[in-house]
Amino acid sequence: MTELTSIVGRVREIARTVLARDAAAVDEQARWPEAGLRALQSGGLGGLVVPARSGGLGLGLLALGQVCEALGRECASTGISFGMHCVASAVIAAKATPHQRGRYLEAISAGRHFTTLALSEPGSGAHFYYPETRLVAESPTSYRVSGKKVFVTNGGHADSYVVSTVASEPDAPPGHFSCVLVAADAVGLSWGPPWDGMGMRGNSSRALELRDVPVPRQDLLGEEGDQIWYVFEVVAPYFLMAMAGTYLGVAASALDEATAHMGKRTYGHSGGRLGHVPVLQHRLGELWADVQRTRRLVYWAASEADEHGPEALAALCSAKAEVAGCVVRVVNDVMTLCGGSAYRDGSRLERLLRDGRAAHVMAPTTDILRTWAGRAVLGLPLLGD
Ligand SMILES: Cc1cc2nc3c(=O)[nH]c(=O)nc-3n(C[C@H](O)[C@H](O)[C@H](O)COP(=O)(O)OP(=O)(O)OC[C@H]3O[C@@H](n4cnc5c(N)ncnc54)[C@H](O)[C@@H]3O)c2cc1C
Repeated sequence: MTELTSIVGRVREIARTVLARDAAAVDEQARWPEAGLRALQSGGLGGLVVPARSGGLGLGLLALGQVCEALGRECASTGISFGMHCVASAVIAAKATPHQRGRYLEAISAGRHFTTLALSEPGSGAHFYYPETRLVAESPTSYRVSGKKVFVTNGGHADSYVVSTVASEPDAPPGHFSCVLVAADAVGLSWGPPWDGMGMRGNSSRALELRDVPVPRQDLLGEEGDQIWYVFEVVAPYFLMAMAGTYLGVAASALDEATAHMGKRTYGHSGGRLGHVPVLQHRLGELWADVQRTRRLVYWAASEADEHGPEALAALCSAKAEVAGCVVRVVNDVMTLCGGSAYRDGSRLERLLRDGRAAHVMAPTTDILRTWAGRAVLGLPLLGD
């Protein structure tokens, strides 16, 4: 058994026990899925993508996708919450200083520190790579950060936030920005109301205002102004794979629901079973193929990116866009296959439908990804004319 197979097996066990037990309540109560996330941390998975030299498991995009699929099958909120922790861990690790390795990465690997991303803003929306949050150099050892963030997954629960800001030089061009790590207990953070989404109700994606928040210079990630490198080399690949895996898990879960329902639904008037109706068998076959071909693309894209292959960029963009289409199609069609019992309020499929619908709107969004994939194929830079 490979190390990855064994790790995914451990995640499936946590998903089958803790997540399966809590998922409905997490959704109903819009409750952050703490038990599942802590189980992942205490199971040694907090440092999934943290390099081994900092105590982590040192795994990459393929592992992240498979772990998020296993989580998303039971609870999409847990999949995205854990996924965002992993994306932020990868951002911290990409150019970590000895201080950041000792203070953050080792704690993440030991399951003692949970981190997340605060990139999106009300002004730039889906174009999260154009922040307006200001970074002002206050002294040789500190900055002040001011601005507004929205949709901060794990908001109010994480120990630290990877916050994107414009570069501190006043004339820096758009896209020339910096990321800093802001501690949860920093002075000047104020959280918006609790998250009350249509779906993904446990992921606590909240608004955050930062008012003159003091940040030590040693918590600057990389160099000032080199964030476009982070966005395309680290944030986008890990972000895309966390989302692709999670929503693939939602699609796979819906397929399981259809298979189980068609296997057991029997008519009183004829004794016939739903699963014996040829047109429905045909439809189930199409859905199975949709999930399988999307899964193959997702994991090939992850491997291509892990190995720095030439088609990695187009593949990653397309993988998340394809998953978004797949999950919406599959859950919607499974609702039809499962009939009125699925349409009733509070069915598992109802939750999957609401959760899956977020896949298209979480940035990078589907239309933007299709354009990026085309530009990557043409050999053009992703941003620009
Ligand atoms: C459940 C959930 C979790 C999230 N978690 C995080 C997180 O952890 N961290 C974080 O930083 N953000 C997060 N986000 C924010 C997310 O990534 C997007 O930034 C946000 O959903 C954009 O919303 P908006 O209304 O501002 O979109 P808008 O920017 O107003 O866009 C509306 C639509 O227009 C499309 N559009 C806009 N411009 C173009 C264009 N040039 N070409 C083609 N189409 C275009 C968009 O694709 C979108 O479909 C999360 C969002 C959700 C829903």
